[in-house]
Amino acid sequence: MLVLLATTGLFAAGPKILIVTDVEGVGGVNHADEQLLPGQRRFEESKRLLTGEVNAAVEGALAAGASEVVIWDGHDGSRALSIDQIHPKAVLLQGRPTPADYYLKPKLYDGIVFIGQHAMAGAPNGVLAHSQSFAIEQITINGQPVGEIGQVAAIAGFFEIPLIMLAGDQAACDELLTIQPKAETVAVKRLAGKASVFSLSHDEARARIRQATRAAIGRLKDFAPWKVKGPVELKFVYKPDEKHPSGRTQVYRGANILEANQAWLGK
Ligand SMILES: [Zn+2]
Repeated sequence: MLVLLATTGLFAAGPKILIVTDVEGVGGVNHADEQLLPGQRRFEESKRLLTGEVNAAVEGALAAGASEVVIWDGHDGSRALSIDQIHPKAVLLQGRPTPADYYLKPKLYDGIVFIGQHAMAGAPNGVLAHSQSFAIEQITINGQPVGEIGQVAAIAGFFEIPLIMLAGDQAACDELLTIQPKAETVAVKRLAGKASVFSLSHDEARARIRQATRAAIGRLKDFAPWKVKGPVELKFVYKPDEKHPSGRTQVYRGANILEANQAWLGK
């Protein structure tokens, strides 16, 4: 019995988990003109579907013994989740502007779980793929193309926190696996043809998210933080527009990824 208690962690606080949310990678969310922003015809449905996927991740985390689960409402200025809808054992983090440290501190969490994530701009087979904004063609860190997944991975890695699980479209799952090959992933949808999408049913997506989150937290020791070596050059290449017909590029530099992020977002 003593052995059992020791190995199930009852003598220590369970892991602390951060769930980072977005909307574009939620199952069933496929239309930028109807489903992504407050006021759009189907935005309330998107919020409901996101909430269902997030709460499934919370359930999986608690089943794996997590002692603390924080949900960061990461889409478009934190307007996609509500405290009366999230799992009662979770805490909701909302606000803007996003701080350069993404609300992290050294080892503040034992792992990060992504829900509703999409692939980087230009990703083959991506659903609603973009990097921060649909006006951006590419973001690179020291020459390596990254999307929002890689940006979070880099800052989390700076603070010694690994990414452990991702739910989103198939292209987003593939993108996480390039920087965290051992991660658990749940593809809740995938591109079909040019712009059509296969989605799992919401209940099936929830079941898989619950299971994958639990599995990832059950083997936290398998995951290493993603370390970007400094000095860092964070580069944004914008698509051509009326003012800049041949596009434009913005570069932010720092001794490390946090400093480069501070140059981009401010301190
Ligand atoms: Zn978003």
